[in-house]
Amino acid sequence: FSSEPSLQADSTEEIGFKGHGMLAPFTAGWQSTDVHPLVIDRSEGAYVYDINGKKYIDALAGLWCTALGGSEPRLVKAATEQLNKLPFYHSFWNRTTKPSLDLANDVLNMFTAREMGKVFFANSGSEANDSQVKLVWYYNNALGRPKKKKFIARSKSYHGSTLISASLSGLPALHQKFDLPAPFVLHTDCPHYWRFHLPDETEEEFSTRLANNLENLILKEGPETIAAFIAEPVMGAGGVILPPKTYFEKIQAVLKKYDVLLIADEVITAFGRLGTMFGCDMYNIQPDLVSVAKALSSAYMPIAAILVSPEIADVVHSQSSKLGSFAHGFTYSGHPVACAVAIEALKIYKERNITEHVNKIAPRFQEGIKAFSDTWPGIDTWN
Ligand code: PLP
Repeated sequence: FSSEPSLQADSTEEIGFKGHGMLAPFTAGWQSTDVHPLVIDRSEGAYVYDINGKKYIDALAGLWCTALGGSEPRLVKAATEQLNKLPFYHSFWNRTTKPSLDLANDVLNMFTAREMGKVFFANSGSEANDSQVKLVWYYNNALGRPKKKKFIARSKSYHGSTLISASLSGLPALHQKFDLPAPFVLHTDCPHYWRFHLPDETEEEFSTRLANNLENLILKEGPETIAAFIAEPVMGAGGVILPPKTYFEKIQAVLKKYDVLLIADEVITAFGRLGTMFGCDMYNIQPDLVSVAKALSSAYMPIAAILVSPEIADVVHSQSSKLGSFAHGFTYSGHPVACAVAIEALKIYKERNITEHVNKIAPRFQEGIKAFSDTWPGIDTWN
């Protein structure tokens, strides 16, 4: 979460970027005139080029998001056609556009870990997770459970950087100096077996201990106050942490026992990244709510979505006459151009069998990574 000195490009000084006017996200030293950013100019497949023409492998796929690389003509075509036809119309007050309706159906059909009922669109993963919190609060108010409002997230998680999503996140840099987390958010253990297991503790035993800790936290706070638990199937920004064996099975049993909703934050893991279409498929997770973003449009347009279980959707629908409409949304919720691009991206994932591709290249990638294990000093984000 700080800028890497090695990624500062001296050459940008020559062309007037020194002391630039941008307040850059997650960048240290933004006030200093000595810091000049690496300015990326164009992309081609998995490569990007800076303004001086130097070529880089975009190993992170942007920020874990350009799943189809940087030059997919079908996505450009989908965007251009939609821009020509209808560059914008909103989805407020029972008006909407065909691309947003079509995309909602496509996302629902694609998610098969369990049946989902509705899709709500936002523009970023952070907005999606903020929307989750408001939806859960609305839901519990509708059910006459005004005390059931707290959220449990995990240490080292990343759920975004808005006030609510940064509160859910479990990274100190997002809290310190910002007076966060908000008081309705509690954090439980990070499921990093390698780092946190006790001597002689197996992965299964470690998972049991973490599930017990979760249960104790719920009991200490009072189950009637705990609304939901949010988790990334694989923790991303916290260090790419895979869940230990039996973890989600045991966590889900605890959540069910105390009527606590499960939100799967699939902002990174959705649409094939793990070799299954969703992280929920990989780890047998049956969530009540899901957040997706990033690869939804292969990042060609900003778009995010939350998938809502039929039970929650029914309550929101049937109670809205009593509580008033679900007064939440964004000007660009379901933006038609972003939806048109996302529809095409999902089509491509299916046509090209993206999950099979991931499974094919994963062992090769792992082999390459292992070659670094003796020499790579590692970046420790744990302090
Ligand atoms: N959730 C997860 C798991 C993420 O990895 C991210 C971003 O990296 C977010 C939420 C926030 O998404 P955004 O940066 O689009 O707001």
